[in-house]
Amino acid sequence: MEDLPRSQMVTLIRQRGIRDAMVLNAMQHVPRHRFVPEELHWEAYGDYPLPIGHGQTISQPYIVALMTEALALQPGDKVLELGTGSGYQAAILAEMGMEVYTIEIVPALHETARALLAELGYENVYFRLGDGNAGWQEYAPYTGIIATAAPVGIPPACTEQLAEGGRLVIPVGPRGGYQTLWKLTRRGDDYHRENLGGVAFVPLV
Ligand code: SAH
Repeated sequence: MEDLPRSQMVTLIRQRGIRDAMVLNAMQHVPRHRFVPEELHWEAYGDYPLPIGHGQTISQPYIVALMTEALALQPGDKVLELGTGSGYQAAILAEMGMEVYTIEIVPALHETARALLAELGYENVYFRLGDGNAGWQEYAPYTGIIATAAPVGIPPACTEQLAEGGRLVIPVGPRGGYQTLWKLTRRGDDYHRENLGGVAFVPLV
């Protein structure tokens, strides 16, 4: 029943310029409607963010695709996500075959996402309740790090826990305003920066 709207969402994302087949395929398979409140199921495949409670949102599908493509991952790569939220981004990464580590600061969101991903059968995702600003040192380094909430500056843990050649995709900017989406690629102690455009994320608190 949800297959047609989901295909239309993927078609739109492709038209907007996303080319990575792994990303498009994952978005075709993950049931986004399960990640939003029931009364919003009908609009789960529109290309916009939706509220998930606790003042938080599930990101716009195109932005999820853009950020995931920018990570340039291979199946089996270790990825750290800051801001689990609904768990949708983590599910996309898991569907692509990544080993996913995800951190959420709101207990209820952490619990709901963990239960939903288990129900959907994703086993390669590890959940942590806590402050993403510190990263997750225990499993570092990560080939990819993705922040889905925006800090005012890049947390040092994000660059420190990135593997050689790894990519960090992160929105950075003032609270309540627009941010710049950055992609950083690590070369030793150098980080090559690429500006991916303007975005609007909730703050990383
Ligand atoms: N990736 C999510 C989008 C989440 S919105 C999804 O696919 O649905 C951003 C999330 O970051 C919110 O759930 C918010 O509670 C969380 N967050 C904000 N500050 C945080 C912090 N310091 N550490 C961990 N999570 C944080």
